[in-house]
Amino acid sequence: MRAMLFERPGSPLRAVERPIPRPAQGQVLVRVHACGVCRTDLHLIDGEVQIARPPRVLGHQIVGTVQASEAPTLQVGARVGVPWLGWTDGECHFCTSGRENLCPNARFTGRDIDGGMAEYTVADARFCFPIPEGYPDEQAAPLLCAGLIGYRSLRMCGDARTIGLYGFGAAAHILAQVCRFQTRETYAFTRPGDARGQAFAREMGAAWAGGSDQPPPVQLEAAIVFAADGSLVPVALRALEPGATVVCAEIHMSDIPAFAYDELWMERCVRSVANLTRRDGEEFLALAPQVPVHTTVTSYPLERAGEALEDLRAGRFTGAAVIVP
Ligand SMILES: [Zn+2]
Ligand SMILES: [Zn+2]
Repeated sequence: MRAMLFERPGSPLRAVERPIPRPAQGQVLVRVHACGVCRTDLHLIDGEVQIARPPRVLGHQIVGTVQASEAPTLQVGARVGVPWLGWTDGECHFCTSGRENLCPNARFTGRDIDGGMAEYTVADARFCFPIPEGYPDEQAAPLLCAGLIGYRSLRMCGDARTIGLYGFGAAAHILAQVCRFQTRETYAFTRPGDARGQAFAREMGAAWAGGSDQPPPVQLEAAIVFAADGSLVPVALRALEPGATVVCAEIHMSDIPAFAYDELWMERCVRSVANLTRRDGEEFLALAPQVPVHTTVTSYPLERAGEALEDLRAGRFTGAAVIVP
């Protein structure tokens, strides 16, 4: 099969031919139809998030069909989604308390397990999701991380009615639609001067869109930072009303600059969101077709995965990018 291989931080993905992997007990072989690109892939390539055992096939928003099954629960021909959470021990203190996203032994797709930037991949059947009917493969792929991490972040916002979204990429363009469906207002912050991004945010349902250097027209009841820029955290904090939370959704961020305690005072809160649980996936994939969430995607053939990642870095597309092997 053809695959794009990560070898070491700082070097581009390399197109290779590899044997088609064989599913072990409990696993399925998946023919990859689409694999979403995520900013986490950039952090991996840049070495900001470590890959313990390279080489590795990246990609953790996989949509495909089961070609061979060593698991009783998944039949050949089933369409499945394979997310970032690829395996947990199921028995630690976190797994047994509904927090498998924090499992210290968790293995992640496209980091610890070969992912979807290839024609085939294998996955543990217990961590695969059924993909809602009516979603073409390419439109479904971004639901699996951008959608899921956005949904988990939204849960951390509680009942907030006015929500700031800092960084309007794949995750925010999905979440803005979910929020509109739930009659919550979103306030989208893009790079200063990004008129195209701001117009796109309004199209996706944002009540207001502006640059991250602008204050929102209302005090926010919550904010989610979907950018890797730590300087946005105190900026978001200053836009919050008392008691409100800033949720940091990135796996890696630049350092957060010091800020006055007064800006945190009055029970404001800064927290992160890490990974996903299978419950997040089940809930969000049931919700997405009700909204219904429409993803805006730019597709790239497998060999151009590196270009997709650089376009993501440079903000050259709106919405999400998807690799089609
Ligand atoms: Zn991701
Ligand atoms: Zn565990």
